[in-house]
Amino acid sequence: MEPDRPLTLCLYGFSSNLNPVKGIPPEQVAGWLNERHVNAVFVAKESDEVLGALRQAGVRIYREMTLFAGKSLYQTHPEWRPITADGTEQKPDGWYYGLCPNKEDLRQKRLREFEKRIADPRIDGVWLDFIRYPIRWEKQDPTQLDNCFCDDCIRLYREAVAGDFEVPQDMDRAELARWILENHLPSWIEFKAERIATWVHEARLIRDRVRPDATIGIFTVPWSSNEQNGAIFRVVGQDYVKLAEDVDIFSPMVYHLLCRKGPSWPAEFTKETILRTGKLVWPIVQAMDEPSKLSYEELEQVILDSGRASGTGVIVFTAGHLDKEKKWEPAMRAFRTLVGEKESKP
Ligand SMILES: [Zn+2]
Repeated sequence: MEPDRPLTLCLYGFSSNLNPVKGIPPEQVAGWLNERHVNAVFVAKESDEVLGALRQAGVRIYREMTLFAGKSLYQTHPEWRPITADGTEQKPDGWYYGLCPNKEDLRQKRLREFEKRIADPRIDGVWLDFIRYPIRWEKQDPTQLDNCFCDDCIRLYREAVAGDFEVPQDMDRAELARWILENHLPSWIEFKAERIATWVHEARLIRDRVRPDATIGIFTVPWSSNEQNGAIFRVVGQDYVKLAEDVDIFSPMVYHLLCRKGPSWPAEFTKETILRTGKLVWPIVQAMDEPSKLSYEELEQVILDSGRASGTGVIVFTAGHLDKEKKWEPAMRAFRTLVGEKESKP
């Protein structure tokens, strides 16, 4: 914890097209944010004028970056689709189109995109998203898929365990998947986490080279180590401790309604993540009525509790929902309270 560090009060998906700031000059957009204590935003597309005005006003600007997912890539690159333990292709799950994280051409493509993004002097940092093995997790009882068993994943696993034991060559895919899961689960889990962490490490080396002052953040699946039989390692391949070697800021996606958890859970998970990683943790909390209504009171309380638990920052997902669902007031009241608390501390 860094008591002197100002609290980062951040809006994900901010845009100068949102109702309260639509059509006003860039300096006034920045002023509108300043007055509400918003000192960081995630943006998609914004003009140089708006970005310049925000920077001038001390608002930090971050970008999200999608790694191993995407509808158009899923459609145009069938060879990047994940393969599940029964040997079949993993189908899309609603809006979610997962991709295998071990395709070398995809990994290199994403590294090039990362370099371009983090080198952009108009932004302060990049948050890695969908940086995991493919699963749609943000719902009740997510399917516990075992993936990926494509040729590349099997080849890389075979190389990773070479010298320890032989991976059979003569089994069909489903048979081999079963053999690995039944006989060598620990090494399989280790392999998965290592593959995710390695990409992050390579990105970090790029950051160190091209833009050492920029931040690398990560949006993580909000599962504890022991939850759902260790699914954060076994299914997702996110080892928070390993990732902490290369990531500056963790943002667990503590969307409590989507995950069917209570309103105190985001703060609890935030504290747990600080202990687990020893890093700054800026939880990202949900603002939208999904799958059920999120009351003004509950939204305000979740932002407050999460900000307090973090001690350094909180991100609201998303600014667009605050706008559409008319929730600016409770969210901005929470920001104001947090700033007041921080300032009154000795
Ligand atoms: Zn694969």
